[in-house]
Amino acid sequence: MSVFINICYLVAAVLFIYGIKGMTSPKTAVRGNQLSAIGMLIAVVGALLDHNVVNYLYIIMGLLIGAAIGGFLARRVQMTSMPEMVAALNGFGGGASLMVAAASYMEMQILADRTIAAGGVFEHPPLQWSVALILSILIGAVTLTGSFIAVGKLMGKLGDSSQVKMFKAIVKVCFVLLIAGSAYFLYGDTMHSDNLLIVMIVICLLLGVALVMPIGGADMPVVIALLNSYSGLAGSATGFVLGNNGLIITGSLVGASGIILTMIMCKAMNRSLTNVLFGGSMAAQAGVSKDENDKFYEGKVKMASSEEVAMMLESASKVIFVPGYGLAVAQAQHATRELASMLQKRGTEVKYAIHPVAGRMPGHMNVLLAEAEVPYEQLVEMDVINPEFAQTDVAIVLGANDVTNPAAASDPNSPIYGMPILQVANARSVVIVKRGLAPGFAGIPNSLFINENSVMVHGDAKLVLQEMIAAMKDL
Ligand code: NDP
Repeated sequence: MSVFINICYLVAAVLFIYGIKGMTSPKTAVRGNQLSAIGMLIAVVGALLDHNVVNYLYIIMGLLIGAAIGGFLARRVQMTSMPEMVAALNGFGGGASLMVAAASYMEMQILADRTIAAGGVFEHPPLQWSVALILSILIGAVTLTGSFIAVGKLMGKLGDSSQVKMFKAIVKVCFVLLIAGSAYFLYGDTMHSDNLLIVMIVICLLLGVALVMPIGGADMPVVIALLNSYSGLAGSATGFVLGNNGLIITGSLVGASGIILTMIMCKAMNRSLTNVLFGGSMAAQAGVSKDENDKFYEGKVKMASSEEVAMMLESASKVIFVPGYGLAVAQAQHATRELASMLQKRGTEVKYAIHPVAGRMPGHMNVLLAEAEVPYEQLVEMDVINPEFAQTDVAIVLGANDVTNPAAASDPNSPIYGMPILQVANARSVVIVKRGLAPGFAGIPNSLFINENSVMVHGDAKLVLQEMIAAMKDL
């Protein structure tokens, strides 16, 4: 049976790898997801056949309750709230690793006590078991509280903290205590360290809070990718505790892919991971207040009406849509597609410029536009579309801000300096659609909005697009 179970885990691992590969392109993403889901089913079946399973009733109850809650939440969650959902799932993953490892420890203690009571000699588990146990408990606890602080920040319930120094000090103290505690656990009386473990769990729960609290709310997507990696590592460590190869492989895959994603996100934002984790809020670093922001634009913005933009579009032979986070907030993907289709019917060439970190999660724009059934071939990556702006009549920026900000190339003091941007300003005319002059994620003003060839239409992206569609129909 054990050979069969291990074959199940191996097949599942191969399917996970193909699944992840499939998810690297929008064309193959659905298939990638399906392959991964089949892999997970095979892994679950393998785990259920394991000799360690003592009671199927609890497992079935857990499956039913979990599936009901998961199904309910997945149906209700909005696309823009996906990062919160992922963060919560990471938190539960970390919590599960923490509890499974703690239960394994208690099980081992009972076994030790029974063996000794029966006059036998209890063979102490090997050092690697204790290391895996402690890692599983510690990383799991940090992931649990860190993820729920991230959820609170993403929901806007927890603001950016001004106590960065205090949290940094707490982090340092926690690390010192944890190193000392772990050393005692590993080399002291491992099997009778319940109180020590409880104290260490509490310290780790606090560490999760102290690590995530000082990070700017807008940096949360990167933190979530990192916590996702942690939840994988915790799972993998739990796999070593339980001797479960499936969990070891799956946890390692999640851990590795999470850290790779974290690094990709940092690179696309031109920031180091240390800067994200310990640099405080990005807006606070940039030091741009609302007054300074308003002053930057004072008297320099040219406004246009939706009707005027419709007239510009009517005579355009090439139009590029530049979607950003605001498009997701406004849920304007269908209206964008409708306007694009109208233009195409009139013979206009239409494309969409996709910046790798537009929105708040990797692939955010691809997912949104795919939902509105925009053909994949019209979604053009930044490096490919940039040279095309110079031959474009109208570039319409829809709720995008930082990913078009020329300061990334021209201002070495800007927090986004070095981040590659969409060179929208090269288009003959630029139309910027957003609700006002508020900054984006980086908290800084954007000189694109006051360029010679730029006009702004203030309003919710969906409403403005609907007005443009109506105006085009009247032309
Ligand atoms: P930004 O966050 O720079 O700007 C979004 C703009 O959308 C805001 O300025 C806002 O202005 C506008 N907006 C909000 N709601 C609406 C609405 N209903 N209708 C119209 N406009 C609206 O977004 P970008 O996509 O340009 O840039 C993404 C940023 O996020 C980058 O700095 C990136 O580094 C960062 N980031 C991205 C991650 C990713 O994986 N994609 C991960 C982590 C960070 P107003 O309020 O005036 O309307």
